[in-house]
Amino acid sequence: MSDLREHAPASVLAADLLEWYDRNARALPWRVGPAARGRGIRPDPYRVWLSEIMLQQTTVAAVKAYYEAFTTRWPTVQALAAAEDGDVMAAWAGLGYYARARNLLKCARVVVDEHGGRFPEDHATLLTLPVVGRYTAAAIAAIVFDDPQVVVDGNVERVMARLHDEHTPLPQAKPILTDMAAALTPDDRPGCYAQAVMDLGATICTPKRPACGLCPWRRSCAAWAAGTQAELPKKAPKKRKPTRLGIVYLARRVDGAWLLERRPDKGLLGGMLGWPGSDWSEAPTPAPPIRAEWRTLSEEARHTFTHFHLRLVVKTALVPMDRSPTRGEFIELPDFSPANLPTVMRKAFDLASRG
Ligand code: SF4
Repeated sequence: MSDLREHAPASVLAADLLEWYDRNARALPWRVGPAARGRGIRPDPYRVWLSEIMLQQTTVAAVKAYYEAFTTRWPTVQALAAAEDGDVMAAWAGLGYYARARNLLKCARVVVDEHGGRFPEDHATLLTLPVVGRYTAAAIAAIVFDDPQVVVDGNVERVMARLHDEHTPLPQAKPILTDMAAALTPDDRPGCYAQAVMDLGATICTPKRPACGLCPWRRSCAAWAAGTQAELPKKAPKKRKPTRLGIVYLARRVDGAWLLERRPDKGLLGGMLGWPGSDWSEAPTPAPPIRAEWRTLSEEARHTFTHFHLRLVVKTALVPMDRSPTRGEFIELPDFSPANLPTVMRKAFDLASRG
């Protein structure tokens, strides 16, 4: 690994990147761009917080529509804190990692009840909020309050690994890459700088085929000099994900109502509406929620979660009006929207609708 600071001091690298950012910043709905920021306009902490929670584990493209829908319906943290839990869970459906939606609400309510509806400005207090981890607290403190916190996401890790030609594999490399990012974080415009490194990673120093010819850090980049940029960052081999099996029961009453069940708050898809079903394991126990003639679809619903693949056998049945379920409740047709189901449940619905 080469020590770049001998060649280009951190202050020069930061200044070069900020100059690049001033000309090339991405226009994002939650962002106050560099020109407006220069005129003293500050981002709304609620919007930055919401975008950062939504962006965890997913992409800007996937988040934009959800962000617009949330901020239109709940334009302030007070409005979100007062929302019905079920409405927020339904609006989040499809974005995945549903525990985040529950914690999002919890956090909005803490901000309103314990902080008078204002997001705390300092990193340490931000860290005490539900769902706000080290990264999110640092991002809010830097982007909104211009606190020179070290903000390290996957983009930043990749850029640091390449800039320094660091070959230690992730996740072992995390503290090394964080130290590298810390050494470069300037006191001047730290909020713009944090967003600039992310933008560099998202648009120039991309995972595949980085556009080094357009990079403001090229002359200082050790990986570019060594020709190793495509191999970095190194990653430890992933463990194979196990496959779990399950059964879901899609019962439709003759008037068109569907039998649904709200999942327990704790656990996967916690608090979301879904089809009643078995446990998810190597050998699931059948658990029909109502007496019926069940038909098994030929195709399974398949979905991959963070730690396992899931294969769901889908069973369907038509039931008479006077039959009562042992689990869940019938949702009348006008109140049922497949879009409000988590993705795996929607896949089962799509299969049942097809056949
Ligand atoms: S020169 Fe290439 S590899 Fe190095 S930081 Fe820039 S885009 Fe990334």
